[in-house]
Amino acid sequence: MKIAVIRIARPAFFALLIACPAMAQSPSGEDLHRWVRGIEGRDSQGRRDFVKQELNKLPVAFVALPFSRTITSGARQREITGENIVVGLGKGKQTLVVGAHMDAAPESPGANDNGSGVAVVLGLIQAFKDHAWNHRAFFCFFDQEEEGLIGSQAFVESYSDSLNHRAMINLDVAGTGTEIYVGPVGGGDDDFLMPLVRRAAALTGYAFHESEYYPPSDHLSFADRNLENISISIVPKGDVPLLIEAIAGGWSIDPGKTPEVLKVMHTSEDKSVHVSPESLKMSFRFTERLLRLINRTNEK
Ligand SMILES: [Zn+2]
Repeated sequence: MKIAVIRIARPAFFALLIACPAMAQSPSGEDLHRWVRGIEGRDSQGRRDFVKQELNKLPVAFVALPFSRTITSGARQREITGENIVVGLGKGKQTLVVGAHMDAAPESPGANDNGSGVAVVLGLIQAFKDHAWNHRAFFCFFDQEEEGLIGSQAFVESYSDSLNHRAMINLDVAGTGTEIYVGPVGGGDDDFLMPLVRRAAALTGYAFHESEYYPPSDHLSFADRNLENISISIVPKGDVPLLIEAIAGGWSIDPGKTPEVLKVMHTSEDKSVHVSPESLKMSFRFTERLLRLINRTNEK
């Protein structure tokens, strides 16, 4: 009822905004880089607080979902606590998840891993918050990925079959380089997604690589339940064959064959000075295009 009233009263200008919200509200590369600078170097609580603060500024509603896990390694038990932050947009019969982990490896400022993914997801929320969604879309900032994908596992465990999962798109390491790297491809849990990923690559014209080999990240929590998933990274030219070789070889990397992206990741040098606005914008544009293609695949 309320929707009908709004539709009738909506001036043409707002109708245009709703038709092309990303054009009207797309973040610039600088905007995305500002988010990376904002989250880098913060501790775990500081990173959660930063995401909430930026969501409030957009403004967009969110829920914080705390979790607690006991991890056993040998005789030692540790309790890991955290909080996933989730923005729900749109309505529909099927569910789409867009995620990035917001935690960082210990002793790392966590700019590219994964302040970059956080920045791109914040940018996507900004661009799509008033979009005409055909799906229920959850934009998730997962916690405690570096401890073993714990936040995304907690999210998936509370994720009921009735949500009718369509796709999970994970962004991890999205701020350095010029080439899109998507994976892990195959295994029966990306048959719907991959044709759309390839279409997004063709439409953007970006250098694109897909592989069955891809580093572990939050997509695996969805893969464990055979839910459609894929991860997206952006990496320097020449890194993808080296990454594939490293993963295929069980991470035993020959001297001189270390991918550029790994030289900084998980170190004290993972700073925003190594993250570029252009790379962030590429990650944003690629994922934005993919989300538009996915959104068109279903009836309201
Ligand atoms: Zn990561």
